[in-house]
Amino acid sequence: MEFKTIIEPFKIHSVAPITMTSEEQRNQFIIDAGYNLFSLHSDDVLIDLLTDSGTGAMSRNQWAAIQRGDESYAGSPSWLTFKAAVQNLFPFEHIIPTHQGRAAEKILFTAIGGAGKIIPSNTHFDTTRANIEYSKAEAVDLVIAEGKDPASLHPFKGNMDLVALEDFIGKTGVENIPVVMMTITNNSGGGQPVSLENLRAVSAICKKYEIPFFLDACRFAENAWFIREREVGQSARQIIDIVREMASLADGMTMSAKKDPLGNIGGWLALNNDALASICRNLLILTEGFPTYGGLAGRDLEALAVGLTEVISHDYLKYRIGSTAYLGEALAKMGIPVVQPIGGHAVYIDAKALLPHIAPLQYPGQALAVELYRAGGIRGCEIGSVMFGRKPDGSEVPAAMELVRLAIPRRTYTQSHIDYVIEVCAEVLRRAPKLKGFRIQQEPPALRHFTSQFAPL
Ligand SMILES: *Cc1c(COP(=O)(O)O)cnc(C)c1O
Repeated sequence: MEFKTIIEPFKIHSVAPITMTSEEQRNQFIIDAGYNLFSLHSDDVLIDLLTDSGTGAMSRNQWAAIQRGDESYAGSPSWLTFKAAVQNLFPFEHIIPTHQGRAAEKILFTAIGGAGKIIPSNTHFDTTRANIEYSKAEAVDLVIAEGKDPASLHPFKGNMDLVALEDFIGKTGVENIPVVMMTITNNSGGGQPVSLENLRAVSAICKKYEIPFFLDACRFAENAWFIREREVGQSARQIIDIVREMASLADGMTMSAKKDPLGNIGGWLALNNDALASICRNLLILTEGFPTYGGLAGRDLEALAVGLTEVISHDYLKYRIGSTAYLGEALAKMGIPVVQPIGGHAVYIDAKALLPHIAPLQYPGQALAVELYRAGGIRGCEIGSVMFGRKPDGSEVPAAMELVRLAIPRRTYTQSHIDYVIEVCAEVLRRAPKLKGFRIQQEPPALRHFTSQFAPL
């Protein structure tokens, strides 16, 4: 008998309080925050779905491993434990630990980017794009057309457009393409997975043209679970085998350990090329630290080594993906438009479709995110014209989509928390026709979503 209730494959070992607040209190908190959810005190948030990055709960085995952390400057046993755990899944020759994913990106693109270079991906994550552009190289997104259509039900909306990739290589010239990247799952494209077939094909194209192929592998385990669930011929495989095959197709990877490695901090760069690794290690020493700890403490390395063994558990992944889908499908069923199919780490609400009476440059995503907080203390994240609307030349152009992302921290909230989120969303749906837009009162020169102050219209 298969029961339908999703139960967490863990029991609670240590708890952190959630402070209950009234709508009246929250109305004041959000005014004090200038209607910017990043400016709230997290103690004033009931269910924090701002991000799944570094916000997950560690297991008792991870906390126990922290006690084993050895803080030797060079050659610590914690480093060897970490390196073995990474290479067990991703058997690259060189493993370079960093404090976060973006540090790995900065080092890689400092080494191989630069003016005149162009780097394609399915969709670059924003820190990846920013680091490429900071090196004066150009970042290009070549995701399949279905990946840009919120309603398309394609099972692998993170796939690279193979025809576009070959076309791009032909036009750009192999000498101008230092690397081809693939983001798994495709975070900026709705947490959508990439198929093994597509990874194999991209790998083959890169081999044919002798261009290195790197994974931005932050959600590798969630991506592997989607492959097992959705791809023909994959359902009997172990997740660890699928992950190793993904690694075998690439020449290297960048990683944020704040995602699937179940850590609160960390990252790494891994690769096979000896000469490039040597350049990267020298850059590492400049900004992160000695190559056997990077930007991390020995205890962090220990916790990540354990996290890497836990995240590939089939029980964990079934619950993880099932719970995110449960939230997304409940919202869709009550008539809230969401990006389909539901991704691995988050549910994306289509605020443009839900609030058609609010013009894009009156920020429907911001209006929805503020109301989710006021009604039920839920903190989501606007991914729309507030985040992307301001162009480098100073003009303001509506974003392609107006989304609100509800990102689910790993192993942190229970199904009753998720049921509460669903109830709050139902209330916000009732209020939707009366919601009003916002204008920006004050904004910084760049990355305005973090610190802008808003006023209601
Ligand atoms: C989070 C993330 C990064 C950056 O990692 P940080 O640890 O936040 O610096 C890069 N790529 C993807 C796909 C991510 O989700």
